[in-house]
Amino acid sequence: MSEMAQTDPEGIDGVRMTWNAWPRTKVESSKCVIPIAASISPIRPHPDVPTLPYSPLRCKTCSAVLNPFSRVDFAALIWICPFCFQRNHFPHHYSAISDTNVPAELYPQYTSIDYSLPAGPYSTSQPPVFVFVLDTCVIEEELGFAKSALKQAIGLLPDNSLVGFVSFGTQVQVHELGFSDMSKVYVFRGSKELSKDQVLDQLGLGLAGRRTGPGIQKGGLAVSGVTKFLLPASECEYMLNSLLDELGTDQWPVPPGNRAFRCTGVALSIAAGLLGACSAGTPARIVGLVGGPCTEGPGAIVSKDMSDPVRSHKDLDKDAAPYFKKAVQFYEELAKQLVSQGHVLDLFASALDQAANIVSSSIQPLQNIGVLKYIGEKVHPDEKLVWVQYHIGKGFAALEKLLKDYAGKYATGDEVCLVCFFPSCSLCSSLYAYCDAINRQNGRMSGTEMVE
Ligand SMILES: [Zn+2]
Repeated sequence: MSEMAQTDPEGIDGVRMTWNAWPRTKVESSKCVIPIAASISPIRPHPDVPTLPYSPLRCKTCSAVLNPFSRVDFAALIWICPFCFQRNHFPHHYSAISDTNVPAELYPQYTSIDYSLPAGPYSTSQPPVFVFVLDTCVIEEELGFAKSALKQAIGLLPDNSLVGFVSFGTQVQVHELGFSDMSKVYVFRGSKELSKDQVLDQLGLGLAGRRTGPGIQKGGLAVSGVTKFLLPASECEYMLNSLLDELGTDQWPVPPGNRAFRCTGVALSIAAGLLGACSAGTPARIVGLVGGPCTEGPGAIVSKDMSDPVRSHKDLDKDAAPYFKKAVQFYEELAKQLVSQGHVLDLFASALDQAANIVSSSIQPLQNIGVLKYIGEKVHPDEKLVWVQYHIGKGFAALEKLLKDYAGKYATGDEVCLVCFFPSCSLCSSLYAYCDAINRQNGRMSGTEMVE
């Protein structure tokens, strides 16, 4: 073990192969039980890897980089690509090379080389842009967790990165971080689909705004007015923190038996539109924190009525998922827009919660037919029931502990969560009955939804 820890199996190159010798014949190669494969860490730092202050020479056919395995004809100033055997001429500034004066990339010991590229199409001086999109249709406590995670994330961003903030519930609020005297918010209706140009116009970043603005392209920002919404992290951290402190859950009244009116689709398309004000290719990403299904406006995936379940795979097969096609179309359009802008969307949505984990990993698998059959055969047929009872009891005790403070219409509150979605689980009915019992214990009526 200690020997293993001391050696550096990846070596200077950061490559680990399944075999350390190359098969020389077809027969040898066919005898390899484990295929030849390599895991590579491409930008692994190593003190012995030299950094060259110029761009690599590339093969004109396959773009492979000049390397010690290339055959070089010093007289003709030609190198032959070891991958595609293309003959490549050395450029002018390599004319002084000879077999006694070779560039570093041809040194046999330099099998790995870092190139530090001069400013050009591959280098970027543009600051990264992050637009955070926060769902406020969640319970107070969840919002609290999301807010503190956001603050932590913003604190860890590079100082020069530009930050924007959008919150949404039934409506979308785009926060103007550049206006620090008081909080200034642009509100959008969650039910209305907006094009990128409409978003820019309404934020004052449209063609009209562009003409009256200073008109100087700064960093990756094609539209100068966008600096109202995207501020360097170092400048807006305080403002953003106090804004988050004040931000509450969505106050839109939700009639009983309804899901929260959550316009995730519009919120994401507005964030994408906002990023549309940045030059294409700016390193920008939208970070969406979403607490449930989209129910309002374009991109909705389920009705607001809680008695309509979210579509299942069966519904898709039977074409009985009325929201599905429209939602897919909407999100595909959004994806296309982001791709054309060269921007990224990260969506953090309904993580597998602990309660669902208890059912899916600590209760259900322990009583699959296979397990029970095995116990019946290896231990005793009578032990099967004892086994099942023991594990259900143990799992439910853990569930009870976890859920007793969160009960609402569903297992973990008034929103459907994953634990409510285990239809294939043989425990479903007992689980629902169980959640129901907890709800009654907490003095809340539920019943119908639970049994569905
Ligand atoms: Zn080549």
